[in-house]
Amino acid sequence: MAVKEVLKMGNPTLRVKSEPVDPSEISTPEFKQLIQDMFETMDAEDGIGIAAPQIGVNKQVAIIGVPKENPRYQDLEDADQNDEDDEAEGFEIVVVINPKITVTDPTLRGFWEGCLSVPGLRGFVERPSGVRVDFLDLEGKAQTIETTSFAATVFQHEIDHLEGILYVDRVEDKSKLSFIDEFMKYHDQ
Ligand code: ZN
Repeated sequence: MAVKEVLKMGNPTLRVKSEPVDPSEISTPEFKQLIQDMFETMDAEDGIGIAAPQIGVNKQVAIIGVPKENPRYQDLEDADQNDEDDEAEGFEIVVVINPKITVTDPTLRGFWEGCLSVPGLRGFVERPSGVRVDFLDLEGKAQTIETTSFAATVFQHEIDHLEGILYVDRVEDKSKLSFIDEFMKYHDQ
């Protein structure tokens, strides 16, 4: 059990393409420890997502807080109603291993993004507004989630980390890269 240091932009580990997880690894104590460390670090930092490279491990694993208002997410929400803490936060937590993204709706939609590895900043990023994500869950079973809107952005942001990509790379209009303090002054959320 440990809260790990979150690597910051400039650390080369964040820029490496992560290795796929061997499915036989998923049940090992070491892998469970990694997942636990990621959860604890994300909670300590108040993040809504974290990818393994952010704590220095170049494996294709990410934890994603999926906003529940996403209509395509309704089925999963109904399937797991006993996690009341997450319910209150408005997020359902999903662990994705070896995720593959397929764009289902290429229409670009923009959101202001932030990242634990780029503290103090927000940036406006346009991404495809619908994606399907195929991945392995913590039991090593193949799963698929289809998301749209902000949830689709959250998945793309986290999975980008596994490719060595940070959201700032995708801010096309650099005038829309902002310190959080200034962002709060000039943008109504
Ligand atoms: Zn991030």
